[in-house]
Amino acid sequence: MLGLFSKIIQPKKSCQTKPTLPVKILKNIFWGLVIATLGMTKSNSQTEKASHGQAQSNSDNNIVNCGHLLDGPSFYIKQLENKSLDNMFTLTKLQKQQIGKANYKQVIKKNKLLNEFQNKTNVLQTFENIKKNAKSSTQFKLHIIASKDINAFTMIGGHIYLTTGLLSYIDSMDELAFILGHEVGHHEKLHLERKVKKIMATSTFFGATGAEEFAKIAIDLNSKFSAPFDQINEYEADEYGFELAKKSGYDVNNFADFFKKLEKNEKRSILIKLNSTHPFSSDRRKCLEKYIAN
Ligand SMILES: [Zn+2]
Repeated sequence: MLGLFSKIIQPKKSCQTKPTLPVKILKNIFWGLVIATLGMTKSNSQTEKASHGQAQSNSDNNIVNCGHLLDGPSFYIKQLENKSLDNMFTLTKLQKQQIGKANYKQVIKKNKLLNEFQNKTNVLQTFENIKKNAKSSTQFKLHIIASKDINAFTMIGGHIYLTTGLLSYIDSMDELAFILGHEVGHHEKLHLERKVKKIMATSTFFGATGAEEFAKIAIDLNSKFSAPFDQINEYEADEYGFELAKKSGYDVNNFADFFKKLEKNEKRSILIKLNSTHPFSSDRRKCLEKYIAN
């Protein structure tokens, strides 16, 4: 699962995870470095073949210049990790569907999905506009969860989930277009696929082929990995969401409103930075402002 925040948040509370034991942080960093190092041992020809046509390039190093000081080193380690994962594993369309379906069953077991919700017509129209302009081979499906929590997240197989708390929190369809664009970005930039591959690389599911194993992976997707390198995925999804929502005709000046509201309650520290799945809202807002200026 890849969402807009570090974890599902309650209204009026900070969106960042609380720092936990340093050992957890070190474990996350360790796996990122192991996978990145494995990537360095692969031949260039293999790497180029595996990553051909996939959305990672040095043009993305925009991120290095607008976020936190630690994001620069994380960005470069992340590129190595991506190449390594792409070399080690391939996921078929059927495997992705199996994981997506298993995860969807998990979500509906724990949450109530709604057919009727606030501002339905405008929300669905915004989703259609974003889908149309994404021109993706993924079949995106929007689900609305009845919850006061403010959150949006997405899962392999094209499932995008928004809470009713989030729909109440946004002030414009511009904000929503950016959020939906961000979630689509996680698919188009292969973040979801690589998260599955990372679990395969670091668990007993190595070599898994059956639906049962993929169902276990789907459960693990909700809890594993929060290395600072994964914050790079969030910047990339923000950059993609910015471009997609802009292309769909929404006002770029309102895209950062979401982060402006969140950063009011944000606490910044190195420990939080190292232990969070998501960058600080203030850094994300600064990046969006840079994209507007450019
Ligand atoms: Zn995200």
